Amino acid sequence: MHRRNRLLFLLFPALALVLPQTASGQDLESLQEEVLAEVSTPELQKLSQVMVDKLFSFSELGFQEFWTLDFVTGILEREGFSVERGCAGMPTCYVGTWGSGKPVIGFMGDIDALPETSQRPGVAYRDPLIPGGPGHGEGHNSTAAVDVVAAIATKRVMERHGIQGTLKVIPGVAEELVASRNYMVTSGLFEGMDIMLSTHIGSGMSTGYGISGSGLVSTQFTFYGTSAHSAGSPWAGRSALDAAELMDIGWNFRREHLRLQQRSHSIITHGGNQPNVVPSEATVWYYFRELDYPRIKELHALGQTMAEAAAMMTGTTFTERVLGAAWPSNMSKPLAEVMQAAIQEVGMPEWTEEDQALAKAAQAMMEQDTTGLTTEVPDSLRESSQGMGGGSDDIAEVSWNVPTVRLRYSGNIPGMTGHHWSSGIAMATPIAHKGANYGSRVIAMTAIAVAVDEDLVEEAWRYHREVTTKDYTWESLVPAGTAPPIQLNADKMAVYRPMLEPMIYDETRFDTYLEQLGVTYPGLTKPAGASGGK
Ligand SMILES: [Zn+2]
Repeated sequence: MHRRNRLLFLLFPALALVLPQTASGQDLESLQEEVLAEVSTPELQKLSQVMVDKLFSFSELGFQEFWTLDFVTGILEREGFSVERGCAGMPTCYVGTWGSGKPVIGFMGDIDALPETSQRPGVAYRDPLIPGGPGHGEGHNSTAAVDVVAAIATKRVMERHGIQGTLKVIPGVAEELVASRNYMVTSGLFEGMDIMLSTHIGSGMSTGYGISGSGLVSTQFTFYGTSAHSAGSPWAGRSALDAAELMDIGWNFRREHLRLQQRSHSIITHGGNQPNVVPSEATVWYYFRELDYPRIKELHALGQTMAEAAAMMTGTTFTERVLGAAWPSNMSKPLAEVMQAAIQEVGMPEWTEEDQALAKAAQAMMEQDTTGLTTEVPDSLRESSQGMGGGSDDIAEVSWNVPTVRLRYSGNIPGMTGHHWSSGIAMATPIAHKGANYGSRVIAMTAIAVAVDEDLVEEAWRYHREVTTKDYTWESLVPAGTAPPIQLNADKMAVYRPMLEPMIYDETRFDTYLEQLGVTYPGLTKPAGASGGK
């Protein structure tokens, strides 16, 4: 207990019963109220909206988030954070740092877009801004807004009260490729970090603890054969594409005899050039997903066996390039408890009739229950479960190395399909603007609790040692020495960047991106002659 508090309690013994003690001497409740008020100012609400809209308009695919890098680091620098650009071998990675000493608190969320999900925001029908182009079909455009606004507000309150600690804002680069956090961990980026506060878009406000989701290895097999005239002398050739196809066929037969919890999917990224040339090179890209480290490794090894067998059958050879990997995530209970309390304090944004009308029209279009937007927060904390597995998120790699908690904030419409243009409909509308700002409120309240409560940090690490890592110590599923696959998506963005550039949100001329695009919000029915189909 600090001397100031001890003195206070000598004078007013009853205070000891009502005020939770913090290392900084302020009571936590009033600091949380203060940081909540800070995030809620018109200035920071505007910043939430501008960041959400700007990143939506960028629509940059994983490892190509260069406009995002410039824009976000510019904001951090203006707010007094020192910025390191490029980290863990990834040019679009950044670390924005403010403050000094312990505790070191991380803020982390994803920043990348998805292929094929370009969509006009604010309208409940299919209308790509760029047909075939990238878009925010998962809502990662809103996450940097959550993190940065929360970090700014936390910093301001810490500064005002002379609270010690270091804040670090780090992006989830290329989360859709599950291919950045492993490299960040192995490069030592999180060494010395005490707590990680992570965020992900959702259609409600929630957190949880324990193990969730599937883990995976993302890996490419490239087969090498011999080229020949496909009609003139096919016997002289050995087709690399045959090998890729036979690997897929073998895998799909074997799939029947694998655990139901496994999930695996592949695409052929290169299958030759034209039919009359026997393909001398072909690449197939697999995600092998399972529920724990030994099983992920086993599934990956089985994939390697299939590749070997396919090469033997076709007289070809192959190489493998692991791109990324993640364990299932394992979130901290002590941190989730503090976050849950903050969620209940913050509550849900107030949705307008227009917001609800868009949500219901989008749900009707997607043949979902037309329940509209979520209006309540969960009244208790839930333990996560892996169930039969599903998606993966490489924040998991952080969660096994630093006590981590994840907030799902309410910026999207329930019932939309994931990794799909429908999940982009709400993402540059007041639904996402308010959802992101409310997400920041929860993160900032949790951050200030971590900053002033040494016991919480200690308890989080005790839980990390005794529960999180009791049965497993994290090991990398990416072979040592592998470089991050930063060339991914460069070809796609070379095509789409010139189309996206004239559509970048200009906050100096337009209040919102909807205004810039001329969208009458909400757009409930498709105008005659609009492009695209459902
Ligand atoms: Zn995501």
